[in-house]
Amino acid sequence: MQGKKHYQEKLFTSFQLSNHVPEDNFYRRLKEVLPMQWIYKATKKYYGHEGQRSIDPVVFFKLILIGYLENLCSDRRIISTAQMRLDMLLFIGYDIDEQLPWHSTLSRTRQLYGEDVFRELFKKVLSLCIDKGMVSGKRQAIDSVFVQANASMESLQKKAILNDADTYAEELEVKTENDDNKPEDKAIVKDAEDKKPYGNGNAWRKNMRNNLVSSTTDEDARVSVKPGKTRRLNYLAQVSVDTEDHVITHIQSDFADKKDSQCMPSQLNHTINNLSEHGLTVEEVLADGNYSSSEALRTLEEHNIIGYIPNFGHYKPLREGFEYDKQKDCYTCMAGKELPFTRHKESHGNGNLMKQYISNPKDCAACPLKEKCIGKGKFKTIAVTTAKELFDKMHKRLQMPQATKMKKLRSSTIEPVLGTLVNYLGMRRVNTKGIILAGKCMIMAAIAYNVKKLLRFAAKKLLSGSEIIQGVVNSVLILAKVFIAKIRWYFFKSCIGIQK
Ligand code: SF4
Repeated sequence: MQGKKHYQEKLFTSFQLSNHVPEDNFYRRLKEVLPMQWIYKATKKYYGHEGQRSIDPVVFFKLILIGYLENLCSDRRIISTAQMRLDMLLFIGYDIDEQLPWHSTLSRTRQLYGEDVFRELFKKVLSLCIDKGMVSGKRQAIDSVFVQANASMESLQKKAILNDADTYAEELEVKTENDDNKPEDKAIVKDAEDKKPYGNGNAWRKNMRNNLVSSTTDEDARVSVKPGKTRRLNYLAQVSVDTEDHVITHIQSDFADKKDSQCMPSQLNHTINNLSEHGLTVEEVLADGNYSSSEALRTLEEHNIIGYIPNFGHYKPLREGFEYDKQKDCYTCMAGKELPFTRHKESHGNGNLMKQYISNPKDCAACPLKEKCIGKGKFKTIAVTTAKELFDKMHKRLQMPQATKMKKLRSSTIEPVLGTLVNYLGMRRVNTKGIILAGKCMIMAAIAYNVKKLLRFAAKKLLSGSEIIQGVVNSVLILAKVFIAKIRWYFFKSCIGIQK
């Protein structure tokens, strides 16, 4: 018989939310695992004693976390999604008939709280992972990823024009104080607007260097591009990941025009601090060639950390045809002439400080090897980094078989983490403006990642426990079956024996 469901809405009903959310539900388990009561104390300084009641700080952090866990990059969508999901309502502590906070409250509260509160929450989650034995701290893989800023390329203006516009605005203010709305004031504004680069062709875009242009909607966003991708306004996320169970141990935001090697010392110090709070020591750091710089190598040396970072460019420890004399601090060329140390110069490629050794032009002019050595040049220059010893040490280490293993380990550790953050945890684009807020977004995405890891790890452990029990039960059943089969066989044989 065909069934038909008739729906008659009830006016009064008895409903308990926890009865409708399974015990193994992700948000239900997260609610039990995540300690959040400390947030009240940490955020107390942001509120006065009078006025309207604010959003509950714990509810705020839970809603923001839901946004990253569900890859929702709009505050409006976070609220509408949470309002419809029973498990999320249980997680944030709201009943089905309660109205959730207004979406703009999330944006205002995100701006209100300092980065320290977000970072503290990150550390709490990290400590839960450490307590579970998911982090060894010994080996850290580091890398960076561009995160799209909340600004369009159309918002770019030439910096000089902006300065002009500021001057015009100042002039306007002075004029307005003296005489309101004079026709010439409007003409000045129009003149400034006409100087904007829009509509004057795209020639200026070819020269879009960050020292020449800036976004009018987000001044901290920087124009950057990855090979094969389109030019965009971005921020840079620097991420450290423990190789043991791929838990994020530190994340920080930087300007997208900053080099990885420039960010590394601060990134390394923060990672070391986060782990040392739990008595863990970083022994090895794995990174790609973009992190190679004399400053980065010195930082590793200071902390007694073994690095696996390919030297920048095609590094050669020895100069063919030139011999170095450490005592005299000079090179001797194939013709037996000395190239003394002349000056320090900063390298354009990676900002390393270089020592330059320059030959005497008179020696080179009379040299029979001139053509082969310097071609049509007048003298020979040898540029050597000031941290040559450290680069040589790294070069030697990277020739070992262990280095190949570390290279593979780095890629298999950090790249899936960055991919997950960008594609599934809301870090493709920030929905805020300014580098400080971008940093808060990145921290929350990292918290969401670690929380997922933590709960999956706990579930895995639970599963392996149940698997053991299941295995024991299966073995007992098999033994029992064998035993019964043997009894039947003996019984059958004895029956045949009786018949005979
Ligand atoms: S060209 Fe100058 S640097 Fe080169 S071998 Fe001759 S003297 Fe030496």
